[in-house]
Amino acid sequence: MSAQIIDGKAIAASVRAQVAVKTLEFVARTGVTPCLTVVLVGEDPASQVYVRNKGKACSDAGILSRQIDLPATTSEAQLLSLIAELNADRSVHGILVQLPVPGHIDEARVIEAIAPEKDVDGFHPMNAGRLFTGGVSCLPCTPYGIMKMLEHEGVALKGKNAVVVGRSNIVGKPMAILLLARHATVTICHSRTADLEAVCRNADILVAAVGRAEMVRGSWIKPGAVVIDVGMNRNAEGKLCGDVAFAEAREVASKITPVPGGVGPMTIAMLIQNTLEAAERQVAARA
Ligand code: NDP
Repeated sequence: MSAQIIDGKAIAASVRAQVAVKTLEFVARTGVTPCLTVVLVGEDPASQVYVRNKGKACSDAGILSRQIDLPATTSEAQLLSLIAELNADRSVHGILVQLPVPGHIDEARVIEAIAPEKDVDGFHPMNAGRLFTGGVSCLPCTPYGIMKMLEHEGVALKGKNAVVVGRSNIVGKPMAILLLARHATVTICHSRTADLEAVCRNADILVAAVGRAEMVRGSWIKPGAVVIDVGMNRNAEGKLCGDVAFAEAREVASKITPVPGGVGPMTIAMLIQNTLEAAERQVAARA
C-alpha cells in the first residue's frame, strides 16, 4: 500500500492564512505592523530566491518586509554595525541575515549579534538554550514547521521511536529537542553513526536532514513509519530531490513528505509566524 503524501504546500498555506488573520487583529489592537528586515550580503542566486520568497510571504500576510542588500565585500564590522542599528530600531521586530554569508565574515558572530527577541530564524545561542531548557524562544523555522506538520497530520509522538539523521544546529539538533519535548524517544544520527540503516529501521518517525540525494532507501524504513524528508538536493539528472528515495520509501511508509512541496514551504510559513510572535512579545514587553 502506498503512503499518504503529506502536503506541505497546503499545510503551509493554512498556517500563512492564520498568520494573516492574526496579523490583522494585532495591527487593529496595537497600531503596530510587524516588520521583518532581511539582510542579504553578496549575490548568491539561491539566496536571492529565498529572500524574495520570504518577502512575498510577509507581504501576503500583511507583515512589512524590508530587504537590505549589501555587496559581497561588506566587512564583518559593517554588518555588525548594521545589525546593532536594526536591534535598536523599535519598528523592526524580526532580523534575518540570509546564510551563508561570505567566507570573510564569521557566521557565529553575526548570529550572536542579533537581539535574541528579534532572531526570527531561532539560531541565537540564547534561543537555542531556551529551546533546550523549555523556555519561550524563537524556534528554528524548519524543525518548527515539521512539528506543525506532524501535529496537523495527527501523528502520535509520545513513547514513539523518533530518529533524526543529521545533527546541524539549524535542523537536526533542534528537531531532536522538539521531538523529545513531545515525549518521543529520540536518536540522533550523523556521519559517524554505526549501522545507520538498522537505526533508521527502528524509527516510527524518521526525519532525514542530511543533504545527500536519496541516501535513505526504502529498505531502511520500518513498515508504517512516518517519513519527513528535509533534504534539498539535485540528483544525477539535475532534478530537485530529497534525502529519501521517495518512490521506494512511499511503498513502505504510512505517511511521507515529498520534495519539493513538503518541508520547504513550511519553513517559510513558520518564519512569518515567528515574525508575528516576535512582534507580539516585543509590543507586550513595552506595554
Ligand atoms: P548540514 O550539512 O549542516 O548537516 C548535515 C548533517 O548530515 C550532519 O550532521 C552530517 O553529519 C550528516 N551526514 C552527512 N553525511 C551523512 C551520512 N552519510 N550519514 C549520516 N549522516 C550524514 O546540513 P543542514 O542540516 O543545514 O541541512 C540538511 C539538508 O536539509 C540539506 O539538504 C539542506 O539543503 C536541507 N534543508 C532544507 C530546508 C528546507 O526548508 N526544506 C531548510 C534547511 C536545510 P556530521 O555532523 O557527522 O558531519
